[in-house]
Amino acid sequence: MTRIAVINQELCKPKKCNYLCINVCPKNRSGEECIIQDKETNFPIIDENICIGCGICVHKCPFKAITIVNLPEKLKEKPIHRFGKNKFVLFRLPHPIPGEVVGLVGSNGLGKTTALAILSGKIKPNLGERKHADLSELISLYRGTELQNYLEKVKKKEVKVSYKLQRVDKVPDKYTGKVSRLLKRTDKRGILSDLISRFGIEDILDNDIDKVSGGELQRVAIAACLAKDADIYYLDEPTSFLDVFQRLEVSKAIREFCKDRSVLIADHDLATLDFLADRIHIFYGVPSVYGIVSSPYSVRSGINAFLDGYIKEDNVRIRSKSITFGSSYIQSTRGSKIMIEFNDIQKKLGNFSLTVKKGELYDREVLGMLGANALGKTTFAEMLAGKLKTDSGKIKGKVKISYKSQYPHTDFDGTVRELLKSVTKEFGTENYKSEVIRPLRLDKLLERKVKKLSGGELQRVAIAVSISQETDVYLLDEPSAFLDVEMRLYLANMVRRLAEKRECSFMIIDHDLLFLSQIADRGVVFLGKSGVEGFTEKPTTVEKAFNNFLSKVGVTFRKDPQTGRPRANKFGSKLDREQKETGKYFMS
Ligand code: SF4
Ligand code: SF4
Repeated sequence: MTRIAVINQELCKPKKCNYLCINVCPKNRSGEECIIQDKETNFPIIDENICIGCGICVHKCPFKAITIVNLPEKLKEKPIHRFGKNKFVLFRLPHPIPGEVVGLVGSNGLGKTTALAILSGKIKPNLGERKHADLSELISLYRGTELQNYLEKVKKKEVKVSYKLQRVDKVPDKYTGKVSRLLKRTDKRGILSDLISRFGIEDILDNDIDKVSGGELQRVAIAACLAKDADIYYLDEPTSFLDVFQRLEVSKAIREFCKDRSVLIADHDLATLDFLADRIHIFYGVPSVYGIVSSPYSVRSGINAFLDGYIKEDNVRIRSKSITFGSSYIQSTRGSKIMIEFNDIQKKLGNFSLTVKKGELYDREVLGMLGANALGKTTFAEMLAGKLKTDSGKIKGKVKISYKSQYPHTDFDGTVRELLKSVTKEFGTENYKSEVIRPLRLDKLLERKVKKLSGGELQRVAIAVSISQETDVYLLDEPSAFLDVEMRLYLANMVRRLAEKRECSFMIIDHDLLFLSQIADRGVVFLGKSGVEGFTEKPTTVEKAFNNFLSKVGVTFRKDPQTGRPRANKFGSKLDREQKETGKYFMS
């Protein structure tokens, strides 16, 4: 197989286009049957052996349903699994290793979930397009590797898998009742009570599942996953909605409770993976079209290769530019005009009280806000947005604010195109395409139903809705949740460009330190006791804010000499001790 043709059946509407692709294909016009109508489904089918990859059908399809790609030349091997004709195809598998944490990095839609379904025996791999392939064939492909033994166990149905799903916000759709009821069902190892206290979820055990926050749901879901007795634990994006403290606590618990088991973790927070994983597999390819799993790397080389965008063993460049870190990558555009000034704000909500010290936001500035969950960041954002009143203190500045809430959610019953059209008259203009549609990679989502979008897709749409408003200040609450690393970078670039072009400002609440270090001019740290009391210090440089925050967390970061990315030091390592002694918790 050298060429892959994929038709997205959610987008394909043959009745509306009258099979335009079939009519325009030059191979069809010369008498061959390159694209035909499937008699059973009525969707078109492309024969990849006849197709010459001219791309005419791709450009002519009015619903952008077709993707045609050439595979890397070196890739001569059989696929592991294909979901059917002109559907997603996966090459190779990650290697779970008992006693090791294996990190999976790469964009969404490259087959991480499919790989796990195969490793857990839920999907029988078909090695291409044949049905009912025997697992022995797959085992022979991996003879002599760690995977051989593992797959033999899968064949004998001896592998037990515990899975933490990606969209924790969907948990209430599956389970009802109290948190304690859900957790008790999973308690098979006698470690549940330990997990509950370490994750700080004792106080929500009597709450109904649909009444707990995203961060709480995430910790409940991770505790439920680890409490099960399994050979392999798969955690799909365990860091979304968790603050840095919680990310560290979860990392430590995984290390401790899965010492002799296999763990696979797919996540986009490179700092957490760096801290937690023993090895890395990179997933690359074209999302929803094909995915290739790299050989296992050491953590540092794997993350650096991913950021560099070059997979040496396959001689493949996975993106045109390397991702590098540091102030020179995204230039600051901060101006000198004060847009908003806030001074000694006090707010009490139930038993929680918030105090915000004096601070200001400049024009064209990106102000990062960081700190543990439940310290009042969202409350502060809502006061700035005018959704909540202050008890005392002043917010000065007559500015309009557009607010993207923490959890992307919508009841909109229509397509992405219809939603965006309903919020801005600019939709369809060249300016809107270059400012919003292209940077957020929304072209292929426009005809999709909003209710059917994945977490990352919905997040991009929610950001688009927010920045479609013409305002002075954009407040984005956890915009990186569910976004992959590349998308976080595109977002950082987009925010910078908008700040300069529209002469507006951004306030960004986020827990991904790498993302914040890329995007922010200055930072505000929220300190205090979660759920009880929160207070801020004056906005400072990003470096000072990170240093202040990390000193409270007790974690040090150094700078990777090759990529400039901040890397978490292992607890108690020489560097960790040295940096703590000199008070340099964050080396930028
Ligand atoms: Fe029409 Fe595109 Fe579907 Fe072909 S793939 S039938 S051009 S919608
Ligand atoms: Fe036909 Fe060209 Fe489309 Fe291939 S890429 S199916 S040859 S139109």
